Amino acid sequence: MSEQPACVVHKFGGTSLADAACFRLVAKIVAARPEQRRLIVVSAMAGVTDQLVRAVHVAGKRDLGYRDIMATVGARHRQTIAELLSAEAANQLCDAVTRDLEIIEEVLHVTTVLRGYSRNGLELVSGYGEVWSAQILAALLRQEYGDIDWLDARDVLTVTRTDTGADVMWPESRARAEAWVAQRSGLPRTLVITGFVASTDEGLAATLGRNGSDFSASIFGTLFDAQEIHIWTDVDGVMSANPRLVTEAVTLPTLSYDEAIELAYFGAKVIHPATISTAVERNLPIFIRNTFRSDHPGTRIQQKSGATDQVKGLATIESVALINVEGIGMIGVRGIAERLFGALRDESVQVLMISQGSSGNSICFGVASAQADQARNAVERAFFAERLHGQIRRIDVTKGCSILAVVGEGMAGKPGVAAKFFSALGKAGVSLRAIAQGLSERNISVAVDAADTQRALRAAHAGFYLSKQTVSIGVVGVGSIGSTLLRQLSHRLRSLKQEFDIDLRVRALASSGRMLLSDHPIDLEQWRAELDARGEPTDLTRFAAHVYDDQLPHAVLIDCTASQEVSELYGTWLERGVHVITPNKRANTSSLEYYRRLRQANRTVGAHYLYETTVGAALPIIQTLRDLVQTGDEIVEIEGILSGTLSYLFNSFDGKRSFSSLVTQARELGYTEPDPRDDLSGTDVARKVVILAREIGMTVELADVALEGLVPKELTKGPVSEFLAELPKYDAHMEQLRREAEAKAEVLRFVGRVGRDGNASVALRRYPITHPFARIQLTDNIVLFRTTRYNENPLVVQGPGAGREVTAAGVFADLLRLASYLGASL
Ligand code: ASP
Ligand code: MG
Repeated sequence: MSEQPACVVHKFGGTSLADAACFRLVAKIVAARPEQRRLIVVSAMAGVTDQLVRAVHVAGKRDLGYRDIMATVGARHRQTIAELLSAEAANQLCDAVTRDLEIIEEVLHVTTVLRGYSRNGLELVSGYGEVWSAQILAALLRQEYGDIDWLDARDVLTVTRTDTGADVMWPESRARAEAWVAQRSGLPRTLVITGFVASTDEGLAATLGRNGSDFSASIFGTLFDAQEIHIWTDVDGVMSANPRLVTEAVTLPTLSYDEAIELAYFGAKVIHPATISTAVERNLPIFIRNTFRSDHPGTRIQQKSGATDQVKGLATIESVALINVEGIGMIGVRGIAERLFGALRDESVQVLMISQGSSGNSICFGVASAQADQARNAVERAFFAERLHGQIRRIDVTKGCSILAVVGEGMAGKPGVAAKFFSALGKAGVSLRAIAQGLSERNISVAVDAADTQRALRAAHAGFYLSKQTVSIGVVGVGSIGSTLLRQLSHRLRSLKQEFDIDLRVRALASSGRMLLSDHPIDLEQWRAELDARGEPTDLTRFAAHVYDDQLPHAVLIDCTASQEVSELYGTWLERGVHVITPNKRANTSSLEYYRRLRQANRTVGAHYLYETTVGAALPIIQTLRDLVQTGDEIVEIEGILSGTLSYLFNSFDGKRSFSSLVTQARELGYTEPDPRDDLSGTDVARKVVILAREIGMTVELADVALEGLVPKELTKGPVSEFLAELPKYDAHMEQLRREAEAKAEVLRFVGRVGRDGNASVALRRYPITHPFARIQLTDNIVLFRTTRYNENPLVVQGPGAGREVTAAGVFADLLRLASYLGASL
């Protein structure tokens, strides 16, 4: 344990002092602090400074509405006081507030008479929120924890006003601080101090500028020799990006002063920059902490960056205009940049970023949109002569841009950060209008179109903060395969993450009627209840858009339906860069043109399309075939029993039972489709043949497969019950086929075949009882690959080729294959 610091400043912001309950919470935090001396700097109650400022503006317009505003402000403070303090203490404090309100009323009344206000009036009125909140907190602490004092910063802190706030007059402030302490014979153990307010040398009320209480904290930390500053607010610390734009944003444990300033400059509302510069001089660490989660360690801002991460945070500045100055007159001419930026400085235009091409014939810089016209005028005036002589050809202003900055000390000298940044933006389809890297190498900034801001920010965030194998998953179809997949996933998610850094996040589920979209990973043990409770009507366009989330590096849609409609969406999905995994055979067996489009997506946008389970469920059939083809083997013939149902029927057809009774029994066991004709027709097998044929480059359509199905022509129509009732009529014929085979020591098998000769067929055939097809069991699938390499003896893949567990597991395996394509080392 490190030693306790002797004195710590705690600053509580307005949201930490929103109401009586908040004050109690703050009092508890203060009381629990271990250090010897605690200086508590407070903001006004949330929103009060805004109201006071507004009251002054309203009065300045001669609008008596200021009275309503002040009545609200007064009532809120009185009520908070009444809720927190004993009657006696409450009365005393309410009287003080009433006296202050009377002063404010006088000032505002005069303001209406004068039809305008001075800075004196504004600063006097707007500082009262802190005067009240400090007294309330002090009184509460006194009541609960004994002797506690409060300090009105207007009596001590002396400043000169500047355009944007105030500069501290240190010697004067120090002298007054000492006098204040001497009067009380020492600094109390707990002292509540008003933030934000101060006085001028002449004793006029002043403020430190909006959000100035942070600054008060570091000023009083300096005056009273504190060793640490804790800024208590309503977030866990400084985040890696604005959490409203990036839900994946994380809290940063440490930041250097420079990084914090850089982030603040680029729009991350970290902390008032003057706070940091004051702290830097005395090397005071600053902690950003959450009042409402006081056990969270927060962010520590200190001298050293403190972490090995190359990138600390991402920040954006919105409403930026880019100004591009172009012309040959700029090439090699000295001092152009000086003149340009000198002119802008003279006009008080703040330049947010600068980028100059090495040829030097253009300079581009970014300014706040509100200053764009001013900037253009300044440039036009400064280069009047050059424009007249055509040396500067054009000055273009593009409004509607944003700047996105990546900040981190660790970036300096480390290769690859910029590449990562730009490739993340490129992948998200964000085009860059300008790029700049500061000499400090603490930041890289890019300008993008305003409309791209959030997407750019999220993509960059994903690129730097998430594992490369973080995958956003949507599952379409939650029937038997889909739900089994979800169960299998739920058992493995944890160890995949821990052992292999694969972060699989199921964020969307859809049945045909309802879908569930979630920003956070769906709890896979509760998904059904959640789908029922929070589901909405299925809309696959929104579904896909949700899964394709810029915040996560990769997206995959898993289609566990047998739907034609869903399969028709793969093309669009893949072309957007979304990976697709499916056991659904529809897409691969629709037109050849569509099939080619799907396979093409990998080459054009890098999206993977995986469908191992379309043939033989999880059996490695597609992968085996691919390996053969890609290593240069030549396929002579592929022959296989590709239907678990038909496999079962003929494996069981031994003459003891009629064929029709086997069909009925198989149906009862769930081995067939609800309508067994879907299996007996052989179409399903024909689809698999097409998939295999196309895999080896054949140009076949489903209609090209010579299909001899097992459904008698007369029975193709009509209800299932009728079909089952009529089927026995054909038993004699089937039995005859079986006997003929048996007589020759052969068996009947329903087989799909595709050959180098270009023929694809599906039919009932006979095989010797020594053939591999004769020796399979139950619903086994089996495929023989005859190739140039495997010519004497074919390569055989055999095993259960149907069923929800194995099919779902095959889909899962495709998902992990995808993860490994994306860089996982499994
Ligand atoms: N109450 C002041 C403001 O809202 C100062 C602060 O809260 O930091 O600007
Ligand atoms: Mg504030």
